[in-house]
Amino acid sequence: MHKPELLAPAGDMEKLEIALDYGADAVYLGGEQFGLRAQAGTFSLSDLARAKALVQRRGKRLYLTLNAYLQPSDVELFKGYLEELRPLDLDAYIVSDPGALALVREVDPHREIHLSTQANTTNAGAANFWKQAGVSRVNLARELTLEDIAAIHRCSEMELEVFVHGALCVAYSGRCLLSTALVGRSANKGACAQPCRWNYALVEEKRPGEYLPIEEDARGTYIMNSRDLCLIEHLPELLQAGASWRW
Ligand code: SF4
Repeated sequence: MHKPELLAPAGDMEKLEIALDYGADAVYLGGEQFGLRAQAGTFSLSDLARAKALVQRRGKRLYLTLNAYLQPSDVELFKGYLEELRPLDLDAYIVSDPGALALVREVDPHREIHLSTQANTTNAGAANFWKQAGVSRVNLARELTLEDIAAIHRCSEMELEVFVHGALCVAYSGRCLLSTALVGRSANKGACAQPCRWNYALVEEKRPGEYLPIEEDARGTYIMNSRDLCLIEHLPELLQAGASWRW
């Protein structure tokens, strides 16, 4: 069995060094624009250059998230950002929006492109579609089962990446409007306030202000949230299913 790539996020230079010290083979970061990592910390262009130099010295790889869904008014800004990024020669960009993918291919045609979990790839047909579009790796939708991953691997030659640790969404991988609706912070712009994890109570319409508790266990209720992901004990099965397979 091959050794899989361990990919970790980093929100600043200190976290980047920690990720490398603790064995990450590759690290992904968000830049100051279009990266959906506003809450986790972002890197300016000069920070990215320093990060790239550090990662290169350690013989590791550095990926940049560019996984926002673009509005028409974003397109020229995005192209300009790609021009600024190109000299940094980062190892890959992580995108979600087919429009963003097309712009990367136009402005920076040789850049390696990975598809974000945000694009919700849930079947082999979709993985093969993205391969034809120039994507070399797909980070699968986080909602898939082990059998789903194996089925995709059997019918696709796409390199498959899976999340093994961290927060899961109750909605499909962040494609959710809860935070936008309740506090005006868009999950699809990287600014989710995670209202699915807040405490909720039941109110009978004719008795406003009387909150009836909902209890599933001693800590209350989880009606709108899912458990965090922790697959450390399932890595062999995941690899067997085709995660991190290199063709
Ligand atoms: S509110 Fe919850 S389900 Fe929705 S995007 Fe944020 S973390 Fe995900």
